[in-house]
Amino acid sequence: MISVSDLSGFIYCPRSVYLSRVLGVVPPGSDPQGRGMVGHAIRRELSMRQAKLVRKIDSSEDVETILNSELEAVISDIPYIFSERWVEGYSKFIPEVRSEVQSEIQLLGEELSALISDLGFERALERVTPWKTEYILRSEALNMKGRVDKVMRADCFEPVEIKTGRVPDGVWDGDRVQLCAYALLLEERFKEGVSHGFVEYTRVQERRPVVFTEKLRRQVIHARDLLSELLDGGLPDICPHGQPRKCESCNLVDECYEV
Ligand code: SF4
Repeated sequence: MISVSDLSGFIYCPRSVYLSRVLGVVPPGSDPQGRGMVGHAIRRELSMRQAKLVRKIDSSEDVETILNSELEAVISDIPYIFSERWVEGYSKFIPEVRSEVQSEIQLLGEELSALISDLGFERALERVTPWKTEYILRSEALNMKGRVDKVMRADCFEPVEIKTGRVPDGVWDGDRVQLCAYALLLEERFKEGVSHGFVEYTRVQERRPVVFTEKLRRQVIHARDLLSELLDGGLPDICPHGQPRKCESCNLVDECYEV
């Protein structure tokens, strides 16, 4: 069964999925990778706590203190959130990640305060409270499985994927395909249409909408089929996307060029 998160990786670089899924290549535990993992976990957890933050912000004037204290709470919880993937050496990345996230949470504070003032507390809380988090979906018929970060329940189900890395002008193609794959899985499970969802780019605290057009749905099915063939086939050539810049920043580059 195809994993939805692999679809996103496949769109980025088919060879990377083959290396990790078929050949079992694991990226070395470099400093940038460790820092990236810690940053991802902290940003993601803060996003999951938005409803808690709305409650606190509504009952206090001091938004900055609330956010900083929640950030410290997340930092102290992070070894437990990481659980078995946490290694002691990761602690050294905390100061750097903390100072990056401190500037980002100011944006989060402004965003949540504006939401409360525009919609009122009850509706703002409703807007940021997911119906489900880390919701597992799978379908034999679609031959896909995955775990979506959040599912909101408005007029219809709205999948939300949290992305903590580099922010594009709009939405990365891989993120768009990944989100739409979750929509197909939700439709399959609940037998109701899912028209749109959101990619949440935490570094700019923006939830960017994605409309699940017919073209995008076909793109998901096409990518799923290509990925399925790839996993049963052979190793794609180096740099199959023709974009050397992707290889320069790839955490598998050393292993990839040696295979
Ligand atoms: S180094 Fe380039 S070709 Fe190799 S996995 Fe990374 S992005 Fe793909």
